[in-house]
Amino acid sequence: MNLFKKTIMAAAAMSLLTASQIAAQSVGIAMPTKSSARWISDGESMVEQFEAAGFTTDLQYAEDDIPNQLAQIENMITKGVDVLVIAAIDGTTLSNALENAAAAGIYVIAYDRLIRESGNVNYYATFDNFKVGVQQASSLVAGLGERFGDGPYNVELFGGSPDDNNAFFFYNGAMSVLDPLIEDGTIVIQSGQVGMDTVGTLRWDGAVAQSRMDNLLSAYYGDVDLHGALSPYDGLSIGILSSLKGVGYGSGGVAMPIVTGQDAEVPSVISMLAGEQYSTVFKDTRTLAGVTVGMVQALINGTEPEINDTTTYDNGVIVVPSYLLEPVSVDLSNWEEALIGSGYYTIDQFQ
Ligand code: BGC
Repeated sequence: MNLFKKTIMAAAAMSLLTASQIAAQSVGIAMPTKSSARWISDGESMVEQFEAAGFTTDLQYAEDDIPNQLAQIENMITKGVDVLVIAAIDGTTLSNALENAAAAGIYVIAYDRLIRESGNVNYYATFDNFKVGVQQASSLVAGLGERFGDGPYNVELFGGSPDDNNAFFFYNGAMSVLDPLIEDGTIVIQSGQVGMDTVGTLRWDGAVAQSRMDNLLSAYYGDVDLHGALSPYDGLSIGILSSLKGVGYGSGGVAMPIVTGQDAEVPSVISMLAGEQYSTVFKDTRTLAGVTVGMVQALINGTEPEINDTTTYDNGVIVVPSYLLEPVSVDLSNWEEALIGSGYYTIDQFQ
């Protein structure tokens, strides 16, 4: 918000004018890509909820192209938005743009993904990302026991995009569950490939995960069967499952490995119902949008946004005050209650 608007707001607050009596505040919403349905839901929920709260919105998607997202954000700053809500493609590339935003008095909310290497991030609205990883690995371990008995189990690991801070939280959360089982021999990584620098998947690209799975299967699984794959995102899971099906897993008496996921995207829920993907993690984007709108309203009203974490998200310059929502692990035992019961989807999307 520029100084003029800030002064008007302060004056309005003092004379108890209602929000509708003051010029509408504008919010620039920068989302990474439309190639994944979750970001479309995030965008739609935010536009709906910001507009219901009296804001105008400018929603932009950058199709996972970093210069494109930067240009969109710079354009929003030039147009004089009051607030920026950003789900960054690469969390480290926005420092200069955000310096300009701060100079123009624009508030910045990091949305779902932390913006790194900048002191000009006011708040962070997200889910408990470490817990997402714990849930993925816990579900993997439960599925392995259910489908393959006592083990040892052959498992391969997939990580998210190394330019997305979340990917490290998912991976570290998962490894907090898996490491002890790898150490005691219950889980065997036949490829030996561990660590985000080895198992990361740039831009969360399902085709990259699929071809890595193809290579792993041909190099390490000629004589032994794979039992599980840790996948941090449904789009990767779909690629991994295509690779597995391509060499005969899930048919002719060869059990499908346990494959995890994240986002509860429709194709992955359909895959779960077909007995392919084992689980996913549901993160209600409507609630995340709601938290974000609440943060922005508080900032505009000159009050403190509600936060529940002031220690976890060090972005390299500051620890960004955060609100973490609870993710929900979803498999065949609770999908209907979690996804239909909550009104996130309707049953006809799966019939
Ligand atoms: C989000 C996940 C999503 C992934 C790929 C992450 O930053 O937190 O929900 O699966 O990006 O889009």
